[in-house]
Amino acid sequence: MTAPCTHPERVDGVCTSCGDCLHEVILNGACFFCGSTALDGVALSPKPAEQIVPAARLVRKKPGSG
Ligand SMILES: [Zn+2]
Ligand SMILES: [Zn+2]
Repeated sequence: MTAPCTHPERVDGVCTSCGDCLHEVILNGACFFCGSTALDGVALSPKPAEQIVPAARLVRKKPGSG
Protein backbone atom coordinates (compact mmCIF):
# COMPACT_ATOMS: atom_id res chain seq x y z
CA MET A 1 0.00 0.00 0.00
CA THR A 2 1.39 3.36 -0.99
CA ALA A 3 1.02 6.24 1.39
CA PRO A 4 0.36 9.70 -0.03
CA CYS A 5 2.89 11.19 2.34
CA THR A 6 6.37 11.46 0.90
CA HIS A 7 7.85 13.73 3.52
CA PRO A 8 11.21 12.49 4.74
CA GLU A 9 10.99 13.63 8.32
CA ARG A 10 9.05 11.64 10.83
CA VAL A 11 8.99 11.67 14.61
CA ASP A 12 7.93 8.40 16.19
CA GLY A 13 6.31 7.37 12.95
CA VAL A 14 4.36 10.60 12.55
CA CYS A 15 5.19 12.98 9.74
CA THR A 16 6.33 16.34 11.02
CA SER A 17 4.97 18.08 7.94
CA CYS A 18 1.47 16.75 7.43
CA GLY A 19 0.91 14.55 10.46
CA ASP A 20 0.65 11.35 8.46
CA CYS A 21 1.04 8.33 10.69
CA LEU A 22 2.63 5.02 9.83
CA HIS A 23 0.17 3.30 12.14
CA GLU A 24 2.30 0.70 13.79
CA VAL A 25 -0.29 -1.48 15.45
CA ILE A 26 0.81 -3.20 18.62
CA LEU A 27 -0.55 -6.07 20.62
CA ASN A 28 -3.55 -4.23 22.04
CA GLY A 29 -4.74 -3.35 18.55
CA ALA A 30 -3.95 0.32 18.89
CA CYS A 31 -1.47 2.35 16.92
CA PHE A 32 1.80 2.72 18.76
CA PHE A 33 2.25 6.24 17.44
CA CYS A 34 -1.14 7.95 17.42
CA GLY A 35 -3.05 5.55 19.66
CA SER A 36 -5.83 5.04 17.15
CA THR A 37 -7.77 1.84 17.56
CA ALA A 38 -9.79 2.19 14.38
CA LEU A 39 -7.14 0.43 12.36
CA ASP A 40 -8.35 -3.08 12.90
CA GLY A 41 -8.48 -4.79 9.54
CA VAL A 42 -8.09 -1.59 7.56
CA ALA A 43 -4.79 -1.86 5.78
CA LEU A 44 -3.04 -4.40 7.91
CA SER A 45 -4.94 -7.54 7.10
CA PRO A 46 -4.11 -9.17 3.76
CA LYS A 47 -7.41 -9.36 1.91
CA PRO A 48 -10.49 -10.45 3.81
CA ALA A 49 -12.49 -10.54 0.60
CA GLU A 50 -10.45 -13.47 -0.63
CA GLN A 51 -11.83 -15.59 2.15
CA ILE A 52 -15.13 -15.59 0.32
CA VAL A 53 -15.42 -18.73 -1.74
CA PRO A 54 -16.69 -18.14 -5.24
CA ALA A 55 -19.86 -19.98 -6.18
CA ALA A 56 -18.02 -21.81 -8.92
CA ARG A 57 -15.91 -23.64 -6.37
CA LEU A 58 -18.97 -25.04 -4.70
CA VAL A 59 -19.89 -27.05 -7.75
CA ARG A 60 -19.24 -30.72 -7.22
CA LYS A 61 -17.09 -32.66 -9.58
CA LYS A 62 -18.68 -35.47 -11.47
CA PRO A 63 -17.68 -38.84 -10.01
CA GLY A 64 -15.40 -40.90 -12.18
CA SER A 65 -14.06 -38.04 -14.22
CA GLY A 66 -10.47 -37.14 -13.93
ZN1 LIG B 1 3.87 14.02 5.40
ZN1 LIG C 1 -1.17 5.88 13.90
